[in-house]
Amino acid sequence: MAEQASRSVGPIVLLGSPGAGKGTQAKRIAERYGIPQISTGDLLRENVQRATELGVQARDVMARGELVSDTLVCDMVGDRLQGQDCLPGFILDGFPRTAAQAGWLDAFLEHEFFDNSHERRCRPIVILIDVDYNQLLLRLTGRRTCLANGHIYNVHFQPPREDEVCDLDGSRLVIRNDDREEVIRERLTAYERQTRPVAEYYHRQGRLFTVDGSLPVDTVTAKVFQEIEGHGGMA
Ligand code: AMP
Repeated sequence: MAEQASRSVGPIVLLGSPGAGKGTQAKRIAERYGIPQISTGDLLRENVQRATELGVQARDVMARGELVSDTLVCDMVGDRLQGQDCLPGFILDGFPRTAAQAGWLDAFLEHEFFDNSHERRCRPIVILIDVDYNQLLLRLTGRRTCLANGHIYNVHFQPPREDEVCDLDGSRLVIRNDDREEVIRERLTAYERQTRPVAEYYHRQGRLFTVDGSLPVDTVTAKVFQEIEGHGGMA
């Protein structure tokens, strides 16, 4: 795994459709730069599991593969970004997913993360991990997640040694509730309809950098690091 870089990085937004590999890349970025990964999907799943008020409101929407309301998600992200651990920088994985969320994030960063010492605006670097539709379907329908620690396998590309058992901790592998085929199609449609415009929004501002997510995973990581370090992600 990549060594940890000692420099700090500005906010990083990882865009990409479900199954593009955002989670994997976000973990590697977090490790290299020592900044937290903030995955709205993970935060929402935690809330569903703990049956919090937010979790109860989000559960059925998530099970259908639709997007949770902008207000709920923005409030959740706003709370999380107040954490001291976010001061040196952070990676948003799965957020923003709508034009309204992107606008909210710009305003939030402007107010909460304005860099007074340098009198400059805090702007995220946005990386789009791009993978074609058929490849995404295979990745998502084949995905199995370990119940204990969330280790991820794929029955088509990276099967466990023993069927339905995690190689690393022996726990049971399950299909995530929203990785069933009919839900996957809904999630991919939601992405095309609501999240593509977010990529276009950042593209128009010259802040979007695209990485081919169908390349081998380590190559994708190397390209993501190159974009971060080459395009102003470093403070
Ligand atoms: P993910 O793990 O990122 O694929 O997210 C799983 C599900 O959580 C999505 O299908 C949505 O229902 C919900 N979700 C995650 N992030 C967001 C977001 N930024 N806005 C709205 N809903 C979200």
